[in-house]
Amino acid sequence: MAIDESRLPLLAQRERDAFVRARPRSAEFARRAHAHWLHGVPLHWMQDWGTPFPLFVRSARGAELIDVDGIRYADFCLGDTGAMFGHSPEPVAHALATQAGQGFTAMLAGERIAAVGALLAERFGLPFWQLTQTATEANRAVLRYARAASGRQKVLVFDGCYHGTVDETMVRLRDGRTVARGGQIGAPFDLAAHTVAVPFNDAAALEQALAPRDVACVLAEPVMTNVGMVLPDPGFHAALRRLTRTTGTLLVIDETHTLSSGPGGYTRVHGLEPDFLVCGKAIAGGVPCAVYGFTAEVEGALRRVWSERGHGHSGLGTTLTANLLALAALEATLAEVMTAAAYAHMERLAAQLERGLGELCASRATGWNVARVGARLEIGYGATRPRTAVESEAAMRPALEHLLHLYLLNRGVLLTPFHNMMLLSPATAAADVGRLLATLDAALAELA
Ligand code: PMP
Repeated sequence: MAIDESRLPLLAQRERDAFVRARPRSAEFARRAHAHWLHGVPLHWMQDWGTPFPLFVRSARGAELIDVDGIRYADFCLGDTGAMFGHSPEPVAHALATQAGQGFTAMLAGERIAAVGALLAERFGLPFWQLTQTATEANRAVLRYARAASGRQKVLVFDGCYHGTVDETMVRLRDGRTVARGGQIGAPFDLAAHTVAVPFNDAAALEQALAPRDVACVLAEPVMTNVGMVLPDPGFHAALRRLTRTTGTLLVIDETHTLSSGPGGYTRVHGLEPDFLVCGKAIAGGVPCAVYGFTAEVEGALRRVWSERGHGHSGLGTTLTANLLALAALEATLAEVMTAAAYAHMERLAAQLERGLGELCASRATGWNVARVGARLEIGYGATRPRTAVESEAAMRPALEHLLHLYLLNRGVLLTPFHNMMLLSPATAAADVGRLLATLDAALAELA
């Protein structure tokens, strides 16, 4: 199907007008919010949805979100993964309510940490754990520990990665050189100074970059999910582990998004053997909390680091880290929300959506591809799945994407504003999937 791009501006204007007409209360909130908030929002990402003004939320429950105008949405964004297990999962809401009467934060370990440690070890297969508030902070801590444990300064990431606002990872590969990512505000130093970026799925480039044995760790998502979706080639993870081992480089697997794969993340489903594992966002049901785990060998190295360090601040940790509320939410999520049954439901629906999208692309002859990692799906506009970030970006069509997202949103279907990422939760129903497919089909019919 040839999409007539010249029609996009007109259709986008029609959809923007429809958005404005249906949302007088959001418009009013947006107008008032500008008095005291930069860009009219408390976090600038909240104005990245491509809507004429931000959408204001009244409530969110399960897989449904309701805005302040009373409009209901089937939510496939799910807080950009924070609510991957549905909004306000009942066991987490209950645990929070109970803990709320028993203290929020004390800068002391809560009595449940032994149980939570055991749950994490059993689930992810790594014996030792630490907590942070966010995945960003977990990655920062791991990079510091990896440097300290290895005595090496550099880190390696894959081009197009995102691991949170971690300075050393905010880089790109351009003309064979690692450079700071564009658009950053107030960077404290040359962010590329101690980082090497290589293309994903390029074992030869990885081998060459690790050969000098000066890289402390490779920090990797097992599937790249922040630049469209880039799946690993068969054998790539085996090569990554072999090359990191032979060069004495630590391997950090960031499961923050790929927790969609299964109860123990992509690592468990595919038998990866990371030295460190990081996970945030949904791990405590959407309550700020992240975890990082490591092997017994790493724990030994970190003990040495601690015994040899001088007096002073470690540079790690924040006051509210591992607070009592977060711990309660983490335990409830691990024990009662991230169940095999919940994942079976997510997997079933995700397979259904994958099939439906495939059929839709075929029937409308779009020539697009669909990629999936468990309960997370992505439509790419290329004919084949990308193997690198550069390939993925080359296929992107921002104007078309803008229109599709707005079209869906105006008809009660919410996608993540970044590329075409879709998430299924235990609370998502088959009817939600049907609605997404039917609405997307209607959009394509208009564009044909
Ligand atoms: N790791 C990955 C793989 C991510 O996708 C993200 C955020 N998108 C993060 C870490 C950072 O998470 P947070 O913003 O919650 O710190």
